[in-house]
Amino acid sequence: MSDPPRRFSDLMSRLLGPAGPELTCEECFEQLDRYVQLELAGRDADAAVPGMRAHLHGCPACAEDHDSLKALAGSEDRRPRR
Ligand SMILES: [Zn+2]
Repeated sequence: MSDPPRRFSDLMSRLLGPAGPELTCEECFEQLDRYVQLELAGRDADAAVPGMRAHLHGCPACAEDHDSLKALAGSEDRRPRR
């Protein structure tokens, strides 16, 4: 049979630089809420969502989303729960 379509991901990982888990924007968006919750809770958000920090470093758009979500969640958190 033919080769598995592995060359594309090889090429992609070479283009993206040193190997390391990094999310796509879509994955980042899906995990962002959880990531921010963990951060605010003082948990190890990077361990829970590997690649998120790397993505935020390389992607200004998602970094901005992260900042505003965190600011929003943080201000909500400041209100007494009941
Ligand atoms: Zn992104």
